[in-house]
Amino acid sequence: MRQSKMLVPTLKENPAEADIASHQLLVRAGYIRQLASGIYTLLPLGKRVLTKIETVIRQEMDRAGAQEMLLSALQPAELWQESGRWYTYGSELMRMKDRHDREFALGATHEEAMTSILRNEVGTYKKLPMTLYQIQNKFRDEKRPRFGLLRGREFLMKDAYSFNESFESLDQSYQNMYDAYCRIFERLGLNYRAVIADSGAMGGKETHEFMVLSEVGEDVIAYSDTSKYAANVEMAPVTNEYEKSAETTGEMEKVSTPDRKTMQEVADYLGHELERGLKSIMFKVDDEYVLVVTRGDHEVNDVKVKNFMDAKVVDLATEEDTVRLMGTGFGSLGPVGAPKEVKVVADYAVEPLVNVSCGANEEGYHYKNVTPGKDFVPDEYADMRFVEEGDPSPDGEGVIKFARGIEVGHVFKLGSFYAENMGATFLDNSGKSRTMVMGSYGIGVSRTLAAMVEQFHDDKGIVWPKQAAPYLVHILSLNPKKEEQRVLADNIYADLLDEGIEVLYDDRPERAGVKFADSDLIGIPLRIIVGKRAGEEIVEVKMRNEESKTEIARSSLMDEIK
Ligand code: ATP
Ligand code: MG
Ligand code: MG
Ligand code: MG
Repeated sequence: MRQSKMLVPTLKENPAEADIASHQLLVRAGYIRQLASGIYTLLPLGKRVLTKIETVIRQEMDRAGAQEMLLSALQPAELWQESGRWYTYGSELMRMKDRHDREFALGATHEEAMTSILRNEVGTYKKLPMTLYQIQNKFRDEKRPRFGLLRGREFLMKDAYSFNESFESLDQSYQNMYDAYCRIFERLGLNYRAVIADSGAMGGKETHEFMVLSEVGEDVIAYSDTSKYAANVEMAPVTNEYEKSAETTGEMEKVSTPDRKTMQEVADYLGHELERGLKSIMFKVDDEYVLVVTRGDHEVNDVKVKNFMDAKVVDLATEEDTVRLMGTGFGSLGPVGAPKEVKVVADYAVEPLVNVSCGANEEGYHYKNVTPGKDFVPDEYADMRFVEEGDPSPDGEGVIKFARGIEVGHVFKLGSFYAENMGATFLDNSGKSRTMVMGSYGIGVSRTLAAMVEQFHDDKGIVWPKQAAPYLVHILSLNPKKEEQRVLADNIYADLLDEGIEVLYDDRPERAGVKFADSDLIGIPLRIIVGKRAGEEIVEVKMRNEESKTEIARSSLMDEIK
């Protein structure tokens, strides 16, 4: 591509609204432009990188046996009403009406739409397990869209869903996707950790988030350098030792995110009441009251799910029920059944209000997902104290460290929540009707692009690794007015195109300084500089991530590049 004709609007200054490197650089280097808050246009360079990342994801999904589909973004409200999420998803879900006053939502995620396909089209165990995926824009009316592509209101996601005949089969599909995710993030060259996330999945099964380590990450993870242990500290359940934490409220404030301020009020109720064995609890969140009813044991396909729970919001002014929360664990990927802890993670109505869990385990403390100010280590000397950096990691190897991370992926054992609510059943090999068991697996594709820029940049611009770079080679002709420079650059450009090498050719009538600065900003891995020695067919070659340049004759250029 000739840069003189390409839409690459580079800027000298950082845009005022951008606070972090990836946002600044993607705007300055001409990859993206904002259309509205949290809504971005991918310009040609941005689109090329996005496609590269998609390709890696697609290859690994296909290799893992997942099948690509494309669902519609626009979804009828009825689907979301069947699952219950119409009432629980809150204002992050973009809702609208058509000309006949029928209600719709723009897909924030696609569990419902995918489940509706499976329940209609797959009725036998013979087709199971089946994993389906798509790469498509998602819509979430985020409360605080920010950091450019990192938290948008419309963003590109790869979302996959597995449909299984049993929990054992789900375990395998989950592991399969987990492994594919590791390969994807490794191939992209990212420094990441797979962390234990919300432990509230059905049947006590796990969910993991893939976190790119970065100072600008909104999550905090606890990990051990010398073992595989890593957990998202946000998702760690509050223990029923809550009374003990009450003394150090100050510390809790420090670690909780703004959205979690009301945690204390909730935990005040839950912590005490559940210990006393009460089955229903009302707690106050802002000016609303939430009633939580635990239903005790519950069976899905012969697997015991404990303390499945209903909750509803009661507006005390009118005494009317306004919202019904179904199930527990209202992550944005949806409700999942609760294990033996009773969890409340409400994400409903106007604001995401609380993100709280509460429970007891047999040992009397919780030390799985470590959260300072919230989780405890058994102190042999005294009774309990909060987890701190430097404590032994829960697996006994190494010590706990804290770091910030960007959530680029999330794998989730959903269990039968959607399949049950939406009637997705199949006939097993003895002809018995059973409910499907599901998993869901998301990757933020556009967020991953931004996360890569966070990890791959220097003070001059982006430094793309080959596998994601918009082009492999950047030709700079320093003075195209000089005939021999223009001709040589044109010829090299043609040679590269013949070889099928992706090349951007800066043929603009700009000063050399401008070209160098733009080239650094854009970050293409290999640069060919056509300058003074063009008459002798000699050019300079420089890697974006190295300082040194080497002179090379045109005749041996192709060997150098390959
Ligand atoms: P977050 O905690 O950052 O709000 P999430 O847990 O709500 O993310 P999921 O429902 O797990 O997100 O969606 C799967 C993936 O989609 C996430 O792991 C993330 O990479 C990406 N994603 C989610 N929300 C956004 C967003 N607003 N902008 C860009 N990517 C997003
Ligand atoms: Mg979210
Ligand atoms: Mg999250
Ligand atoms: Mg998530």
